[in-house]
Amino acid sequence: MRGYISRLPLLHDAPSFPRRLCVLGATGSIGASTLDIVATHPDNFSVLALAGANNVAKLAELAARFRPKYLAVLHEDGIKELLTLLPSGYRPFIAAGESAYVALATLPEADVVVSAIVGAAGLAPTLAAAQAGKMIALANKESLVLAGDLIRCACADSGAVILPVDSEHNALFQALSGHDPAFVSEMILTASGGPFRDKDAAFIANVTPAQALAHPNWSMGAKISIDSATLMNKGLEVIEACHLYGLPQDKVSVVVHPQSIVHSLVRYADGSLLAHLGPPDMRVAISYCLGYPLRLPLALAPLDIVALGKLTFEAPREDDFPCLGLARQAYQAGDGATVALNAANEVAVELFLAERVGFTDIARIVAAALDAHAPCSTADLDSILALDREVRERVRSSPLIRDLGRRPT
Ligand code: NAD
Ligand code: MG
Repeated sequence: MRGYISRLPLLHDAPSFPRRLCVLGATGSIGASTLDIVATHPDNFSVLALAGANNVAKLAELAARFRPKYLAVLHEDGIKELLTLLPSGYRPFIAAGESAYVALATLPEADVVVSAIVGAAGLAPTLAAAQAGKMIALANKESLVLAGDLIRCACADSGAVILPVDSEHNALFQALSGHDPAFVSEMILTASGGPFRDKDAAFIANVTPAQALAHPNWSMGAKISIDSATLMNKGLEVIEACHLYGLPQDKVSVVVHPQSIVHSLVRYADGSLLAHLGPPDMRVAISYCLGYPLRLPLALAPLDIVALGKLTFEAPREDDFPCLGLARQAYQAGDGATVALNAANEVAVELFLAERVGFTDIARIVAAALDAHAPCSTADLDSILALDREVRERVRSSPLIRDLGRRPT
């Protein structure tokens, strides 16, 4: 067991309050929850930088409200559009493109970087923040799936701190607090099971994007909602847990818990199971990261456990949801296989959302990409990004996609 991915500060060596935040992926679902916490605690946080991609109108609205000094968008055109939308008299620095995200993630004035870009696009700024020694509230699980070892090394070199926003990993983090990791015998990730948990294979084969996007418990961005429906999200989370907590894969198990109240559990050597329970609201995990090591009050309705009545648990149906097993297979294989897994999955999810392939084709596409993957080095960011691009191109131009794409939708 390698232990936690980064050092963990005590109050005296953590950034002091008020903390200046850089929010990457500000226009998304995690971005919105983060900024809601900032608005609730204006004395504890200020917004230094906000980054979005193409939703310039939303970014302008957030910028007008929080007045950050720095903004970033994906394309140059977005800068001009943004300037027309900002209130008069407010003139932030605005930059565009991947290098702009890296610049924001490493701003010397930033105390906490919220990494909430979706997908592999979040890797470069997250790694840069780790190299710059930042405190990182990490939502972008794909960074760890692609480059967990690099991020661990960067944290060791720079003293950066990683705090897990993902609710399961945040739950594990809380259940580990104050305990010697040497006594951990297992980590159990809970999964809601997604919208098709109780549907049979024939039903699942014909579901539409709208059905797959309708998550029963959580309101999230499109990509993670589809990942939750295929159970790829849980597969990515197994890999995320292995990297965060330095555990081998056979120590991380998955249980389906449809109520999404128990967010994950740690089993200790003496048979104790410590769990974190809470409402299915990402603000709980985000505020724990932003305020770490303090617990900031949140005005959420208290969870009424009597009204809940019962909590249930069941085994995942891995035959009907093969993505979970594919993620485990990729992590075991190493040598770039998790990069191939993630790239193929991102392309497959895009194609499914565009109604070019069916729901069960997502797993088929990922499995084919893993079969085609030749072991390669992922020792630095450039080789990881090159592999990511190569797999995306291969998947997009593969005969499998062309054949699937020709099917009537
Ligand atoms: P989302 O789709 O709602 O938002 C994504 C954000 O990333 C947006 O601000 C978008 O503009 C930005 N973005 C997209 N492509 C980009 C690119 N190429 N370059 C720069 N920015 C880009 O997604 P989300 O649900 O907020 O999820 C964000 C991350 O957090 C994902 O990695 C997801 O797995 C993780 N996460 C989300 C939740 C949740 O409840 N939403 C829970 C746990 C983990
Ligand atoms: Mg999660």
